[in-house]
Amino acid sequence: MSEQKDPSQPKRTDINKLGEFGLIDHLLSRFTPKLPSTIKGPGDDAAVIDNRNAMTVISTDMLVEGIHFDLMYTPLKHLGYKSVVVNLSDIYAMNATPRQITVSIALSNRFSVEAVDELYAGIRTACEAYGVDLVGGDTSASYKGLIISITSVGVAQSDQIVYRSGARVGDLICITGDVGAAYLGLQILEREKRLWLENPDIQPDLEDQRYLIGRQLKPEARKDIIELFAKAALVPTAMIDISDGVASDLMHICKQSGVGAILEESGLPIHHETKMMALKFRIDPTTCALNGGEDYELLFTIRPEDVDKVKYLPDIYISGEIVPAADGVKLHTNGGRLHQLKAQGWRHFGVQPQSDTTQDV
Ligand code: ADP
Ligand code: MG
Repeated sequence: MSEQKDPSQPKRTDINKLGEFGLIDHLLSRFTPKLPSTIKGPGDDAAVIDNRNAMTVISTDMLVEGIHFDLMYTPLKHLGYKSVVVNLSDIYAMNATPRQITVSIALSNRFSVEAVDELYAGIRTACEAYGVDLVGGDTSASYKGLIISITSVGVAQSDQIVYRSGARVGDLICITGDVGAAYLGLQILEREKRLWLENPDIQPDLEDQRYLIGRQLKPEARKDIIELFAKAALVPTAMIDISDGVASDLMHICKQSGVGAILEESGLPIHHETKMMALKFRIDPTTCALNGGEDYELLFTIRPEDVDKVKYLPDIYISGEIVPAADGVKLHTNGGRLHQLKAQGWRHFGVQPQSDTTQDV
C-alpha cells in the first residue's frame, strides 16, 4: 500500500511499519496499572493479580465485525469504550467489582495504527471511568474484519455474589434505568445507513435522536447500582444484566431458579423518547422493552422484606413478582390480560451479516 501524500487526508500509518511488538508497545505505552491488586500488568507471559481472600469473578466476550458491530456508523473510540463496558456489565451483574481486563484483537490490514489508537483511546476512557487496569491481551492479524475479545476479572466476598439461580417465589422483580432505547438507537442507525447507501449525498441528521443513539453507541454499566446495594446492605436474590432483552433475561433467571414470573407492563421503565420513536417505527414500545437488547441495565430480584431498601434508591423500578414455575413466565398487560413471554434475544447465528465494510480505516 502506498504512503498517504495528500495533506488534507488524516495521517495513516500502516501497521506493518510498527510490526506486532512495535504495535503492542505503542498501544500499551498509554496504560499504567494503578490498582494495588495488579501485581504484574502487561509485559510478562501472564499478568499477576493479588485478590487476597476475595472470590475472583471472570467473564469474557468476543465482538466480531459485521456480526456485533458495523464500522459504518460505529466510531472506533465508541467501539473500544462499549467493548469494555459490556464486559464489565457482566461482572456487576454478579454483584462483584471489576478490577482488571485483558484485550485481544485481530486486525486486517484495512486498519491503520491511527485506527487502532482510536479503539484504544475508547478502551482507556472506559478503564479510567470504571477504575480497572488493562493487564494484558493478544494481537493477531485477521484476513478481513476486526475481532475484539475482552476478559475481565473482578472481586467479591463470597456471601455477596449474586447468581441467576437465587430467585424464590414471592420475590419482587426490579429493573434499573430504562429499557428498549438501545434497540431503537440501532434501528435509527440502520435506517440512516440504508438511506446513505441509496444516496451518499444526503448527510444523516442524528442530532434529534441523541439519547437513543447514545444508548446504542455508548452504553454504561451500572457500577452505581452495585455501590448503592453495598451502601443499603442489600443483596439481591438473583441478578442478570439486560443484554438480550428483558424477556430473555428474565427467562434465564426463571429457568435457573426453577420459578415463574409475572411482569407488569405498567412496571417496565421506558424512556419517553423510546415511546415516541417506537411509535414512529410502528413498533409497540413494550415489545422494544421486552425484546430489544443491549440496554446493559440490571434485572434483579429481592426478598419482599427488602422492598423498603430499594424503594428509596434512585433509578430502580419494581416491575413484577416471582411465582411458582407452574404459572409460567407472563406479562400482565395494561389491559389486564396475561401473555406468555417468549425469549427472543439476539440471534446472531443464521442472521444475515451486516454490511461488508471493506474500506480502509
Ligand atoms: P506472548 O508471546 O507471551 O503471548 P505477546 O508478545 O503476545 O506475548 O504480548 C506481550 C505482552 O503484551 C503481554 O503481557 C500481553 O498480555 C500484552 N499484550 C499483547 N497484545 C495486547 C493487546 N492487544 N492489548 C493489550 N495487551 C496486549
Ligand atoms: Mg501473545
